[in-house]
Amino acid sequence: MITQVKHYIDGEFTHGSGERNIDVTNPANNSVIAKINCATTAEVELAIHSAKEAFKTWKEVPVSERARVMLRYQHLLKEHHDELATILAQETGKTFEDAKGDVWRGIEVAEHACNVASLMMGETVENVARNIDTYSYTQPLGVCAGITPFNFPAMIPLWMFPLSIACGNTFILKPSEQDPMTPQRLVELFVEAGAPKGVLQLIHGDKTAVDMLLTDPAIKAISFVGSVGVGQYIYKTGTDNLKRVQAFAGAKNHCVIMPDANKQQVINNMVGASVGAAGQRCMAISVAVFVGKAKEWIPELKEALAKVRPGLWNDKDAAYGPVISPAAKARVLKLIAQGKAEGAECLLDGSDFTVAGYESGNWVGPTMFTNVTTDMSIYKEEIFGPVLCCMEAETLDDAIELVNNSPYGNGTSIFTASGGAARKYQHEIEVGQVGINVPIPVPLPFFSFTGWKGSFYGDQHAYGKQAVRFCTETKTITTRWFDSEAVSGPNMSINLK
Ligand code: NAD
Repeated sequence: MITQVKHYIDGEFTHGSGERNIDVTNPANNSVIAKINCATTAEVELAIHSAKEAFKTWKEVPVSERARVMLRYQHLLKEHHDELATILAQETGKTFEDAKGDVWRGIEVAEHACNVASLMMGETVENVARNIDTYSYTQPLGVCAGITPFNFPAMIPLWMFPLSIACGNTFILKPSEQDPMTPQRLVELFVEAGAPKGVLQLIHGDKTAVDMLLTDPAIKAISFVGSVGVGQYIYKTGTDNLKRVQAFAGAKNHCVIMPDANKQQVINNMVGASVGAAGQRCMAISVAVFVGKAKEWIPELKEALAKVRPGLWNDKDAAYGPVISPAAKARVLKLIAQGKAEGAECLLDGSDFTVAGYESGNWVGPTMFTNVTTDMSIYKEEIFGPVLCCMEAETLDDAIELVNNSPYGNGTSIFTASGGAARKYQHEIEVGQVGINVPIPVPLPFFSFTGWKGSFYGDQHAYGKQAVRFCTETKTITTRWFDSEAVSGPNMSINLK
């Protein structure tokens, strides 16, 4: 059965009236499972207008009432956790357990949004001058928009709209066209939680819809997560149109393995962090840097990776699923071929892997290279597939230099038994999210998701206090109440008197 994906515009779920269609496919066999009718210009305009109108009343709703919508939403998300994970697994190919994790990490952000009143608290100082007090308020910006990637269709939309809406903004979500059914269900549940008409809009489509969001003056802030080229384009176009933009882009995450680390912990953690979710995580470890004698563990890591078996989303023994599309698979295979041609040693090659009965799916088996150098395509480019590049360094200083020379700075980790080495690494490394014996250090929502360098364009990051700063304005008020009839003369200076 082929589902028709729904937009949610001006309080109505609609299949859309446009002429341009996009097929949504099951990555395990590329059969069409749904169709998107791309939002037309008129539909995007209506969504923007409706969000702008809704802002006038939503910003006046008391903060605790807004938080109560989030409480109901968090409850509904938990109640529908398995259902959401099933939809997500079917359209992304992720294993059910991994799909549940994708939903869960989003629920955590919705949960945090319930705490919005404390997050929005301003500052006060009494007596900044004689009888004068100053305090600040945090007020919502207006209409905000989010453009999200395919690889976390629950978590990343949930990074964005609950907190923004809890702060009093209205929000337009444009999710990935490759897996739109999970975001659609997230929006249905948000409506069920009691969100008033117009507060959240869902539009499906591609660049055409995005470009309207980037240029319409009613939209005050754009949150984007996706690939490097698109992220740069979004940042430049959005800021050219005088909007706030936070753009989270690609990554190439290194894990430094010290010889004093626990070998078995390293091997187990490397397997999950490199090929889990078929390597389609922006925090996946794609480069393992073995320091000194740690390189002796490479053959055992290869043995462990060779045992990893991809499979269908509902196969309990499958470690991960297919990559998202034939184009994504072709790109990964091209990079594997380039790695070999450019002189890296391919210890494990998943190029020909397939699953019986699903030969037309986008399968790539676990793949591992050694002798990788920094000039190779497999090192320079984000592969976004189940491919681990192994490199060697003589010392921790050499490893740090290697990581710091990478243009990306999303995540990194170090495995070691030495507090001194860990302290040196966390201090000197130029990467925004660091794990110490933790391979994928994605912060919980009371912190923020703090990628650096080419992995992020903007200044305030996703979720946590930074997200609140991103989607609000600060208003600072200076007050004096006269307590006598005495009237002072004009103050000709800017000093408060
Ligand atoms: P993508 O850039 O292809 O698409 C992301 C979004 O942008 C989609 O909604 C898409 O419709 C839209 N888009 C695509 N091309 C566009 C264009 N030319 N103009 C305007 N909009 C356009 O990314 P993807 O393939 O869906 O996601 C994978 C990428 O996302 C990887 O590079 C990954 O590293 C990155 N990612 C980064 C983070 C992070 O936090 N840094 C998190 C998750 C994913």
